[in-house]
Amino acid sequence: MDTETADVVDHDVTTITCVCGNTVSKDGLIQANAQGIPVHSGDAPAPPELAEWPVDEDLYTLCPSCGRVYRDAVIEETGTAPVAFRVDVKAAPIAEAIRVHWNLST
Ligand SMILES: [Zn+2]
Repeated sequence: MDTETADVVDHDVTTITCVCGNTVSKDGLIQANAQGIPVHSGDAPAPPELAEWPVDEDLYTLCPSCGRVYRDAVIEETGTAPVAFRVDVKAAPIAEAIRVHWNLST
């Protein structure tokens, strides 16, 4: 089976157009960890629903519409955005983390 790949411009993760059609300016994209759990980017401590900022800076980009996850390092190095893995955005803990993420950023 072929790997799904999102459109991305100039190695910039913020320009992803997800396979499902979502973008930063549409439903938004969320920085996540290697498990696809949204990370906390503000001051410590992180809310319990969110993951800590990865110490190795190995970040992923989660599409909250479909649950596809892209690895930032791959996009920055290659300028392509293959789907790394997929999570269930309707189920805990991802669903709770997405809700908390949007509450904090509005
Ligand atoms: Zn998507």
